[in-house]
Amino acid sequence: ALPVIYAITPTYTRPVQKAELTRLAHAFRQVPRFHWIVVEDSTTRTDLVARFLARCGVPFTHLHMFTPRRFKRAGMPRATEQRNAALAWLRQHRGRRDSGVVFFADDDNTYSLELFEEMRSTRGVSVWPVGFVGGRAYERPLVSGGKVIGWYTGWRPDRPFATDMAGFAVNLQVILANPRAQFKRRGSQPGMQESDFLKQITKVTELEPKANNCTRVLVWHTRTEKPHLANEPKHRKDTVVIEV
Ligand code: UDP
Ligand code: MN
Repeated sequence: ALPVIYAITPTYTRPVQKAELTRLAHAFRQVPRFHWIVVEDSTTRTDLVARFLARCGVPFTHLHMFTPRRFKRAGMPRATEQRNAALAWLRQHRGRRDSGVVFFADDDNTYSLELFEEMRSTRGVSVWPVGFVGGRAYERPLVSGGKVIGWYTGWRPDRPFATDMAGFAVNLQVILANPRAQFKRRGSQPGMQESDFLKQITKVTELEPKANNCTRVLVWHTRTEKPHLANEPKHRKDTVVIEV
């Protein structure tokens, strides 16, 4: 059987949340052997997300983990606690006999179906290009002789793994074999989450290049504009309550 792809999506309440999750579900429900781990940045599992997941057509696990307020400041890494909660769930609920690939799928990115075909064969840690990051049209691992030998990036080329969260996948057994590997708050600089995590579980020389030796962009770090809600009524609301 194909290894299961576990996509970990941190998400938080805001006007576009259901639209973002809808776009993701439309891609994910077309991927065979897929399991969506949705982790709400919230003190509870919200009704909106619970109802959405129940109807979305994607096998899922619905978790929540609230980010302490002191970590919710500009310039701080986002979704650290949520990604770690998903890793803890995998370590608790999956074992040596389960074959799988773990991928971090933020809720506002754009995913090609081909990306999942590429990552499915990940034996250790695989990497590929990501569109619209690092201040460039794309960032990518530089490959020579089938090995990663550096990074094409416009931002902090000194990062040991100059990739975005959407630029790599990890075999489930690597997650299980490194039970202490997690995303860090303490000592982590902005933009170093990926490198700080990856250096706990792999080496650059061991990375598996995907997407035609990292020459194809199959995922984009898109960001959704905030909708303009200046004309929302304060008092005379609609006569019905509608979830958006
Ligand atoms: N996120 C979250 N809590 C927050 C902010 C963001 O759970 O307070 C999630 C968000 O839904 C997304 C991921 O963390 O899945 C990365 O956030 P964002 O897309 O805002 O980061 P950026 O694209 O700017 O790096
Ligand atoms: Mn984003």
